[in-house]
Amino acid sequence: MSKKLDIYRVKEGDKVSLSKLNTTDDALFDGDKDEATTKLDEIRDDIAELQGRLYAEGKQRLLVVLQAMDTAGKDSTIRDVFKETNPNGVHVVAFGRPSSEELAHDYLWRVHQHAPIKGGIQIFNRSHYEDVLVVRVSELVPDKQWKRRYGHIRAWEQMLIDEGTTIVKFFLNISKDEQKERLQERLDVREKNWKFETGDIAVRARWDDYMEAYEDAMSQTSTEQAPWHIIPSDKRWYRKLAVAEIVRETLRDLDPQFPPPEVGLDQIVLD
Ligand code: AMP
Ligand code: MG
Repeated sequence: MSKKLDIYRVKEGDKVSLSKLNTTDDALFDGDKDEATTKLDEIRDDIAELQGRLYAEGKQRLLVVLQAMDTAGKDSTIRDVFKETNPNGVHVVAFGRPSSEELAHDYLWRVHQHAPIKGGIQIFNRSHYEDVLVVRVSELVPDKQWKRRYGHIRAWEQMLIDEGTTIVKFFLNISKDEQKERLQERLDVREKNWKFETGDIAVRARWDDYMEAYEDAMSQTSTEQAPWHIIPSDKRWYRKLAVAEIVRETLRDLDPQFPPPEVGLDQIVLD
């Protein structure tokens, strides 16, 4: 990963302090919003090209984890970054409140079955991290139980890595003020009403507790090979650009190659 893109990366062992981070930062880009749109188009084309190669190669796997408070833009980021890719090789799964069947199993059971396949990109819209976030804040299990999960998560992700998966994790960081504006839009704009859930108010009321849970989760689970990136997300255009840049860079590092052709293709004569 280039030095420049490293600015949002949580280094292994770092103690994350979200109150110190600027949610309106746009340091990766010096142009204006129009130039950002052009740049995003270019990056999206590169991502599509690389994803096509990854799919054709059929060997490596990529897992992209997206976590954020409500309204920070998880869904839009997925749309905006992966728009040009081939749906045959890109899979999205959203993790909501667990079903009774899921709750009857261990918390990684429902997640593991969606781990990426060879040649595939798997996107997690929320993830196993909810099991140390909402589960902690809402006290769904005793402290002792969620505290042990950082270790499980590190080990589970390491297992995926050892078996050939690349992992990149994003936290879309918005301010509480920005969330207020966006929730208000969901209340005011007919086309956005469907996104509003009354339960979101209760989550917002626990903002500080969520920030603390996110800080601990990222401090405990950002590793050299499965790093967290904290993306300033108050500016929508910048959030998508930054995530796209990092996804492109991650795919470039994988350097997927078209498989060698079968021998003798040049001898084949078609009728
Ligand atoms: P949304 O992403 O807006 O559709 O909301 C999904 C909801 O599911 C959020 O309120 C999450 O906190 C909740 N959720 C996701 N995973 C879990 C989990 N493991 N336990 C409890 N709630 C969860
Ligand atoms: Mg929601």
